[in-house]
Amino acid sequence: MLDDLDGRLLIDGQLCPAEAPDIPVCDPATGEQIGVIGHATSQEIEAALASARRAFRPWAALAPKARAEHLHRLGNVIAADADAMARVMTQEQGKPVNEARGEIMKLAETCHFYAEEATRVHGETIPNDTTDFDSTVIREPIGVVAAITPWNYPAELVGWKLCGALAAGCTIVIKPAEITPFTALAIGRKCIEAGIPQGVVNIVTGPGSVVGQALVEHTGIDKIAFTGSSKVGLHIQRSATSVKRMTLELGGNCPMIVTKSADLAAAVQGAARRSFRNCGQICIAVNRIYVARTLYEDFLTALGATADGLTVANGLENPKADLGAMASAEPLNKTKEHLADALEHGARLLAGGHAPEGFEKGYFFRPTVVADCTHEMQIMTEETFGPIVGVAPFDTLDEAIAKANDTTYGLASYVFAKDADEIRYLSRALDYGNVAVNNVDAGIINAPYGGRKQSGVGYEHGREGMLEYMNFKHIRTRFEVPEGA
Ligand code: NAD
Repeated sequence: MLDDLDGRLLIDGQLCPAEAPDIPVCDPATGEQIGVIGHATSQEIEAALASARRAFRPWAALAPKARAEHLHRLGNVIAADADAMARVMTQEQGKPVNEARGEIMKLAETCHFYAEEATRVHGETIPNDTTDFDSTVIREPIGVVAAITPWNYPAELVGWKLCGALAAGCTIVIKPAEITPFTALAIGRKCIEAGIPQGVVNIVTGPGSVVGQALVEHTGIDKIAFTGSSKVGLHIQRSATSVKRMTLELGGNCPMIVTKSADLAAAVQGAARRSFRNCGQICIAVNRIYVARTLYEDFLTALGATADGLTVANGLENPKADLGAMASAEPLNKTKEHLADALEHGARLLAGGHAPEGFEKGYFFRPTVVADCTHEMQIMTEETFGPIVGVAPFDTLDEAIAKANDTTYGLASYVFAKDADEIRYLSRALDYGNVAVNNVDAGIINAPYGGRKQSGVGYEHGREGMLEYMNFKHIRTRFEVPEGA
């Protein structure tokens, strides 16, 4: 599949060769080059935008049911080729094939979810002060969307935007992350196979600071749907040159609180999953854990042992591995920096802290647990985006809440507790867009998902994830009693 996507852009329904295919893409497990992508030129960006603009009115004018059929077909062709798409993702991103396959299947589910939502775009009738007026509110698609996406979930983060936008009646130009472009192009190819009309979906590749920035500044874009770091999100908000709608899904620094009433084994299992899955390269990763002092040492022993038991391997060769390669040198170096900083400030290393043996070439790191952490340490206050977690004890719930909320981020938080009063108290006090209680899956496709504070504005997932691509229109009409009535 990779050969067909090498050096391609998706413009006006064609996977066409890029004019400047000069950006290498490498396998993070081996360092070997797997292909190249184009550095989209301004003419190619203009062509993609013009194509999306031409396609907009006809696509928006389709009956919602017809758009839904397109999205259902897209979900079906993606699911049918999930294995090949997963291998593409593993080769460029590093996550084990089974995990990549799971992500592709969730993308297919997203297509079906938004296909169904497309048929449920209801309006509202609002009473006026006098009975001779009707106020009707209808919803209309915003127009042409620029979707700018990161590399950690290269299928789902494209899919949430693509499906929400298409269901609403918008057309889209996607700019995927430089290091994981082929998953996006593979999705583009599936859009062609599913018969989505030409121009509705376009993909341009290249550096964010050039190609992404050109989309942000373009007056022909009606909405920006961005997922990425808080730093780039803020830059995008500041650098738009015309007023446009924006959703910004940004970074996180997510806490987990384990109270004295918690099921210890479940808390340890949850902590290991959400700290180390995808090598911790997930915006809702558990970065820091606060444990009731009575459970603290038992929790540490169990989490350290669980981390030590996880398999780290080349995800292409061992599809079932718990962790594959990290996606690039950047998150790996940050992980090492945060570990060194924690140890310098007096933290205790309980597990990991080094690369696994035999993987000198790629970006590998063992799942790492550090204890006795404080807010003097970067690991407790910054997003690491790596397979490392800091743990600290607490004495009162208010102390745990104050520490959990002591951050500029507000994406997701986690609670493990059995006592109903504790659960209610904590879930109301945590200043986060998502609170997961006795589980670590903070985002599901059926419910709105978004951050607050520096974690972003707007929502993906759920009905809200489609309404973000729609404008409201208020139609106020005066009526008279018909003659002769
Ligand atoms: P990043 O901000 O460096 O890049 C994200 C995208 O923006 C890439 O496609 C990049 O090319 C592009 N970009 C960079 N500079 C740009 C500019 N000036 N104008 C326009 N586009 C530009 O982020 P990353 O390193 O790829 O991803 C990791 C970050 O994403 C983490 O902070 C993580 O928390 C966040 N993230 C958030 C969510 C969420 O739902 N809130 C989900 C996944 C990842």
